Amino acid sequence: MSFKIPVDDLLKEFSNYYKRMEIQIDYIDSLDSKYFLDESSIEELKKMYPEIYEQIPLNKLRIIQNVTFRQDVVEPLLNSMDGSEKEKLENIWVSFLPISSINAKSLHVPNTKIPTIILYDKVLGALHFYAESYLIARELEKIDARIENNFLKYSVRVILDYLQKKRHDIPLYHLPYKIKERAALWATAQEVFIVAHEFAHIYLNHLETSKSDRLIWDGKKINVKEFTYDQQQEFEADLQAFRWIMNLKKQDLDNSLLAFIKNIGVSAEIFIFFHIIEENLKEISTTHPASKDRLRYIYENIKDEISKEEREFIESMFQSIDLGFDIKDFKISKESEDFLNLMVNNIKYDII
Ligand SMILES: [Zn+2]
Repeated sequence: MSFKIPVDDLLKEFSNYYKRMEIQIDYIDSLDSKYFLDESSIEELKKMYPEIYEQIPLNKLRIIQNVTFRQDVVEPLLNSMDGSEKEKLENIWVSFLPISSINAKSLHVPNTKIPTIILYDKVLGALHFYAESYLIARELEKIDARIENNFLKYSVRVILDYLQKKRHDIPLYHLPYKIKERAALWATAQEVFIVAHEFAHIYLNHLETSKSDRLIWDGKKINVKEFTYDQQQEFEADLQAFRWIMNLKKQDLDNSLLAFIKNIGVSAEIFIFFHIIEENLKEISTTHPASKDRLRYIYENIKDEISKEEREFIESMFQSIDLGFDIKDFKISKESEDFLNLMVNNIKYDII
């Protein structure tokens, strides 16, 4: 399979955004210059996607990532909003930074009242990996349920270790295009929620009343204000985000990366992901209400507006969330990791 990324077009598109959002982009740039991808993961990625890494210089990759995400996710979301909502939010830059946290942030550029949104791309990487792992697990189940179970635990352990910086890379599997595509659609349905939630904090003026603190930057404290909201504001931002996504799904999204939001439950599944992380890393759940309560709040407020199929989907999530997923004592040995990776790379996938 060979494909060409329209690098020049994307860079031109970026210069248009830059004209509109210069202050935000310069600010993020000043932060981004401190960090880039881990060396080891770049080498691994170069091997897997030589087309991309031959085409795009490393210093352009982050720009390309921001612009493609904007085109695939942020713009469709903005374009589905009402006029006044869109007007308030369309000049907010959404950027990726390589921070190990399970969150995203909306904040003011220092010394201004200009809001901007930062997505922590390790979370998004983890979401993609989780979606892939879930699809792989379904295939492993056909071979042996114990291997499936072990593989799921392994995948979550990888994510936890990655978020805690105990490991620096996430396994990159050689999977059929169809599986990669399905995982990407799955993860994108959840990423749009993350973005919509941050837009909601800004739209609902939460930045004005939030308390500020220092942002922990990969273990070091640096001079960036972090905003913490009260729990009611988090619930309000969640609900507003879902209202926007329900509006967005009325658009024709069949051939877009947002195709999976046609079942709103797929976006809501992000709370299962958060819940698993909360269960196993207790210290992270201090800023947001418990995921289960967030899911319950959204569901109670939208259940009369969604389809029967979506209601059943979300109700089944409450059952699985209650089963828990405790892997605190589960460790990965080198042998078991090699064995699982061998299995995964040799499955015959029969997804059409
Ligand atoms: Zn929030």
